[in-house]
Amino acid sequence: MAFVDGNLGPRVRWAFADRTDGVSLPPYDACNLADHVGDDLDHVGANRAALASVVGVDGAHVVSMAPVHGNDVGQVVGPSVEPVPEVDALVTTVTGVALLVLAADCVPVILGDGGNGVVAVVHAGWRGVLSDVVGTTLTSMVELGARLERVRAVVGPAICGRCYAVPRERFDEVVAVAPDAASVAAGGLPGLDLRAAVVARLRAEGVTTQLHGGCTQETASLYSFRRDGVTGRHGGVVTLLPAPVPA
Ligand SMILES: [Zn+2]
Repeated sequence: MAFVDGNLGPRVRWAFADRTDGVSLPPYDACNLADHVGDDLDHVGANRAALASVVGVDGAHVVSMAPVHGNDVGQVVGPSVEPVPEVDALVTTVTGVALLVLAADCVPVILGDGGNGVVAVVHAGWRGVLSDVVGTTLTSMVELGARLERVRAVVGPAICGRCYAVPRERFDEVVAVAPDAASVAAGGLPGLDLRAAVVARLRAEGVTTQLHGGCTQETASLYSFRRDGVTGRHGGVVTLLPAPVPA
């Protein structure tokens, strides 16, 4: 399984790549999509183009972001070479671009309301859960015309609550905001299940939500920063297809 793709209702195409099929060399092998981890940028570009082609978008029209574990949302109005700075989510109403979300333990989320012509991606770690980056992204989507009951989401692979042991203070801080994140990690330590928190947040807003992939740390075909340190990032793209021309 290198690429998985599907539709999120009409006009919304998404795809997700694990690390198994690409041109990056160790320790980034093989389908690293991140340009900030020390990998050869030509390899990153080729991997991104391969992923984008799954949803019918040219590699030059992939728009990425430079996350800072905050809750700001960048609105994309067209292709850009540089990552959108200092945002943890991207939203757009334009066709012909693929929004890219990267992760290697954090939770990648792909969102779309094709009927109303809005798509988005979100990167959510524990700070993102704490600052409700999912909520700020949904607000941005609604401001651009989406309706929450029409939004569909794919929540990608992330480190699971058994693997993600955290200090008690962080556990308390996150669980106070997102009770569904509460987990018990190996050895009985406090654990966080960020994916459960993200799914609960989406479903609480009425968003139809599906899961893709498993635990990053336990799955050799996925990147895990906590497991490997210097490594790549897997990720997903979403694109809005043109509206059908009335007959
Ligand atoms: Zn795990």
